[in-house]
Amino acid sequence: MALRTVLEYPDPRLRTRAAPVTRFDAPLADVVRDMFETMYAAPGIGLAATQIDVHQRIIVIDVSEGRNEPVLLINPTLLSAEGDASGEEGCLSVPGIYDEVKRAARVRVRAQDVKGEWFERDCEETLAVCVQHEMDHLEGKLFVDYLSDLKRLRIRKKLDKGRRERAARSGAGGARRAY
Ligand code: ZN
Repeated sequence: MALRTVLEYPDPRLRTRAAPVTRFDAPLADVVRDMFETMYAAPGIGLAATQIDVHQRIIVIDVSEGRNEPVLLINPTLLSAEGDASGEEGCLSVPGIYDEVKRAARVRVRAQDVKGEWFERDCEETLAVCVQHEMDHLEGKLFVDYLSDLKRLRIRKKLDKGRRERAARSGAGGARRAY
């Protein structure tokens, strides 16, 4: 197992559209293990393979307080999305930045597990938002894309400044959670 480096905005590799997973083999299981390890270590509540420069449709999530309810979604598609959940989002690829994004409050997702078995799952609240956030990553989309040009410019400046000051701090946003 190994911690992977998380790409940070505005790295152009974050704009890559991920390809479907077609081989459910040992290398896939290794990537999944590394993704969980990297997400838990960050710490974050979700991670898309895109963020570690692996351009396959793989998402890991754990929104539980105990950090013991791992969710793996391979080749996910949304079967339905309803309701409004507007909340503050953060992202491990946009460290220290949090802003409001409009999402659906409930989604039903269809995905494969590490062995390629299909399943469906109903997701609500933070889990629903996280699924939508991570699925955006697989399309090369970031939560800051929903914000105004001016806000994005400010974020880029802040991140540049943050990178210069990185040595003094860890990337976490206090009690707030990033994915
Ligand atoms: Zn993210």
